[in-house]
Amino acid sequence: MLDKLHEECGVFGIAAAPHSAIDPAYETFTGLFSLQHRGQESCGIAVNDAGVISCRKALGLLLDVFDERSLRAMKGNAAIGHVRYSTTGNPNVENAQPIVVTHNKGNLAIAHNGNLVNAGELRHEIEMKGGIFHSSNDTEIIAYIIVQERLAAESIEEAFLRAMRRIRGAYSLLLMSPRKLIAARDPNGFRPLSLGRLDKHYIFASETCAIDAVGGVFLRDIEPGEIVVVENDRLRSIDSGLRAEKSFCSFEFIYFARPDSVIEGIGVEWARREMGRYLARESGVEADIVIGVPDSGISAAQGYAQESGIPYGVGLIKNRYIGRTFIQPSQDRRERAVRLKLNPLAANIKGKRVVMIDDSIVRGTTSARIVSALREAGAREIHMRISSPPFLHPCYFGTDVPDSDALIAHNHTVNETARIIGADSLAYLSLAALSDVLEKSGNCPVCDACFSGNYPIDPPAAAEKSIFDRRIHFE
Ligand code: SF4
Repeated sequence: MLDKLHEECGVFGIAAAPHSAIDPAYETFTGLFSLQHRGQESCGIAVNDAGVISCRKALGLLLDVFDERSLRAMKGNAAIGHVRYSTTGNPNVENAQPIVVTHNKGNLAIAHNGNLVNAGELRHEIEMKGGIFHSSNDTEIIAYIIVQERLAAESIEEAFLRAMRRIRGAYSLLLMSPRKLIAARDPNGFRPLSLGRLDKHYIFASETCAIDAVGGVFLRDIEPGEIVVVENDRLRSIDSGLRAEKSFCSFEFIYFARPDSVIEGIGVEWARREMGRYLARESGVEADIVIGVPDSGISAAQGYAQESGIPYGVGLIKNRYIGRTFIQPSQDRRERAVRLKLNPLAANIKGKRVVMIDDSIVRGTTSARIVSALREAGAREIHMRISSPPFLHPCYFGTDVPDSDALIAHNHTVNETARIIGADSLAYLSLAALSDVLEKSGNCPVCDACFSGNYPIDPPAAAEKSIFDRRIHFE
């Protein structure tokens, strides 16, 4: 419905201490529930019951797939889970995760957030040797390579270390073998992955909000290139030795992550508010009210209001009960669908000069509809301010920033874009301000390739791009 970007996945895992009464499947369900914003297309949980790994996964939200009875049936001493949003191909259950494979030394479950940039060549290499795949996602390729490496490796962690030397790209992942729970992050650290503790039990989660949700304590982020192994209630860290410049996805701070999460030592809500402050300094305008597009535009709008002295107010009300399956077959219905999801609060904006803050513009279609709705509700002027730099390039690291052709900022100047969406003025946050907020204030070196075109690692070769090209989804 809204031409917003989508994060592909969230992961959660827990290893119960021996002889404990904890229910790993239930804790994983709870953790995943707070990561549902990272993927709403499919979900799954795999449990390890004394070395036997079983898995339940399906298309749909967690509440569609799991209930009290199904969770109660999933007994075990460890679990990993996954929520997924797919950006290529049709959503199907084969692509749902965790993926569970059986090999000659046991079995293995894997849940992955990210995208490999060399998945095409790895898959081709494996297929040319007779390998077969059940899905079209790159997680199965990682599983295949780990299993290949396990033949010669002494342990599953050594097999994964060897696999890390072959895979390139973004991966924050969890592996569960009959005796171990393993978490790992790619050498660039594109995607978040946190370590926490719930009483005596270790937990891993894409975001700290999931650790909070289960009542756990955040310990630290998994380091880029680090492998962490939990075995017999003991935790070991392995340095893969693979070095790269840290390139955490800046868009996690702008939009993807939940505001109550803390990533790389930076509170997401704080970062968004700071972006709003910078935006006010860089692109101030005379106005009567600052409003934010819910949800991720709200913190930046509050920061903009604090910095500019223009009062903050609620200008758009979001309907939180529209599911992804809501289908809009015609243009007219799509128009109405935006109004169904975001409705202007006329009492607050009628006759006023409005600064509207949103986190990003992808194609511009939703922005145009919101601006039009605000005008109908009586706004006198609408000045759009975006708390990120303009999207100019596709992403290959686990989000669906589409081909440049589909990006309005790639094809139009800022003034042209303002005219297209019907705003009186438009301004974006500068790259320098983004880097100030995250790298200087927060000391977090980031990837900003979708804004700058400076890819931290080479994107897939041209011939393979079609495999990874991102398509925008209209929920
Ligand atoms: S290209 Fe953009 S969306 Fe992709 S990892 Fe980098 S900052 Fe994040």
